[in-house]
Amino acid sequence: MTVLASGSKGNATVIAAGGTRILVDAGLSCRELLKRMAAVGEEPEQLNAILITHEHLDHVAGLAVLARRLKVPVFFTEQTHRAWVRMLTPRTTMSYAKWLEKLQAEREAAAEPISVMATEEMDETPAKEKADPAALPAVEYFRAGQSFSIGEIDINPFTIPHDAADPCGFVFHARSESIRMAIATDLGYVPPNVKQALKGVDVLLLESNHDLEMLKDGPYPWSVKQRVLSRVGHLSNDAAAEFLMRDYDGGAHTIVLGHLSEQNNLPELARLAAEQAIGGRMSLLGNRVLLAGQDAPLEPICL
Ligand SMILES: [Zn+2]
Ligand SMILES: [Zn+2]
Repeated sequence: MTVLASGSKGNATVIAAGGTRILVDAGLSCRELLKRMAAVGEEPEQLNAILITHEHLDHVAGLAVLARRLKVPVFFTEQTHRAWVRMLTPRTTMSYAKWLEKLQAEREAAAEPISVMATEEMDETPAKEKADPAALPAVEYFRAGQSFSIGEIDINPFTIPHDAADPCGFVFHARSESIRMAIATDLGYVPPNVKQALKGVDVLLLESNHDLEMLKDGPYPWSVKQRVLSRVGHLSNDAAAEFLMRDYDGGAHTIVLGHLSEQNNLPELARLAAEQAIGGRMSLLGNRVLLAGQDAPLEPICL
């Protein structure tokens, strides 16, 4: 597992086993994603697929451009795909005045057919892509609760409580090596199905979004605070710690804390809460705690 970025300004993680490489989320610009992959020695051409957790911008910002550039299939749930397409092609209701304005502009454009043709020829973007910003080389659908495979990696998607169309976390199982890695970020709380899914994982990327006090006293407007704190918002340091203390089986090699808020959290607070929760189970062999950040990739975690 290599976390390229984690946080509200962009998320992306590479999961690799044997000859299979999957990019989970593409929440940075295509350019930045390629730059970060190069920085950790991942070759973009080696990617077999892009897998999307949910349609929020911090998980899909570079998706269309990257997928088209690399010509790789994108795996979504059907609802997430639809929500993403809607987001890129918003339908606006037009006022009469706007409609007249548009009609006028079209007539003017039609009066100058030569210059229109000239600009068409200059633009090298294929017509299909210009017409459809949501065009992808290939789309595959999966469903939460139904395992599927990409190359040598088995994937178990599970539903997470978050304010998106059909958000999912994932457990990845490297078939040849019986190693399991999981991603669970963007969740308002840890429901029973997530506790169940996260049993027996070797590496866990877990959300530790905010410190409750910092969020309450912080600069966010009240409505945003309510959203973050809600049952479909983000996991606090305390909630992550409670999961680690009560429900986590203690068997992981590494726990990565991710999706830390830059406004409402401090890395030391997130780490302290998690380490206290793991308590005596930390050792040289297991339960190492790492923090994934927004600005630079994390060192690859290799098992
Ligand atoms: Zn997010
Ligand atoms: Zn989200």
